[in-house]
Amino acid sequence: MNEIEISTVQELLSSPKKIAIIPHRSPDGDAMGSTLALYHFLLKLNHQPVVIAPNDFPNFLAWLPGAETVLIYENDKTNCATILKEAQLVFTLDFNALHRTGEMEHVLNKLTVPFIMVDHHQKPDTFAMVTYSNTAFGSTCEMIYNFISFLGKEKLIDKTIGTCLYTGIMTDSGSFRFPSTTSNTHRVVANLIDLGVENSDIHNQVFDANSYNRLQLLGRALQNMKVFPEHKTAYISLSQKELDEFHYVKGDTEGIVNYSLTIKGIHFAAIFIEHLDENIIKISFRSQGSFDVNQFARDHFQGGGHINAAGGKSYDTLAHAINKFEKIIATLEIE
Ligand code: 5GP
Ligand code: MN
Repeated sequence: MNEIEISTVQELLSSPKKIAIIPHRSPDGDAMGSTLALYHFLLKLNHQPVVIAPNDFPNFLAWLPGAETVLIYENDKTNCATILKEAQLVFTLDFNALHRTGEMEHVLNKLTVPFIMVDHHQKPDTFAMVTYSNTAFGSTCEMIYNFISFLGKEKLIDKTIGTCLYTGIMTDSGSFRFPSTTSNTHRVVANLIDLGVENSDIHNQVFDANSYNRLQLLGRALQNMKVFPEHKTAYISLSQKELDEFHYVKGDTEGIVNYSLTIKGIHFAAIFIEHLDENIIKISFRSQGSFDVNQFARDHFQGGGHINAAGGKSYDTLAHAINKFEKIIATLEIE
């Protein structure tokens, strides 16, 4: 952020305000970690913040400090719309286009109060008064740490805020192994651990929360994997029937896409998940190296994200979506 942006934010936060903090739809560890960290920070500054998520977050994040205060727009539209209309300031975190909030977009579009965006995805839209956007960062949580520092309030970062930030930095960096993990990332988490953040415990809470059903579903997903070595590509599919068979709950398919990339020589991975209730095929893309899955998702599957991790969707049948994917990859030369 430049000096003007910093003083704009300082001015906006100089008197107590009702503040809405919004993560993207289907919020992940970084979206929940960053919004809740900011929530605790703004409470300390005597504001009245509230986190409003477009839809529910996975159970493995329910332990996050403050998660019990999060309002779910989808479950309580009237009340959430009222709170949004009364907000004097809106933070949008971990996304950069309002359509990523689903139906909430229509309410957000009508608001006239200032927006502040903090995000690390490609190609930000221009809806915010202040846009702190940088794709070099591995997580929005790492940017929130900077954001608080820019305001000269680093001393307010405590164990609670740090726990939220650590969670998002850890999940978005694949536990500190993705290339976006920098020496600065490690300096930030070192500071958080010095504040008392229980790093090992957080890892257990997030990743050792498997159910037997989830592992069985993972087993099926891995058996469904199709590999195209000549195109350095592999994909997984899961039908609604298979999700039902293993009593799928939100979060169960999180991270499965990454397994394909662990095959030697595979640099492009996808997972197609059929959600018949929403009439949608949810797709995740991952790559290793220079293949840009953000562009691929934008070009072919109405999505976007980062160079090495993106998402998209199809309103076609599962078979058709996969067929389309296979035809496209047959034309690709992946490094
Ligand atoms: P995931 O595959 O975990 O859902 O998403 C991977 C990354 O791509 C995340 O950073 C997520 O925010 C982003 N992403 C997922 N779906 C979409 C989408 O439909 N549009 C855009 N622009 N980004 C997405
Ligand atoms: Mn993120």
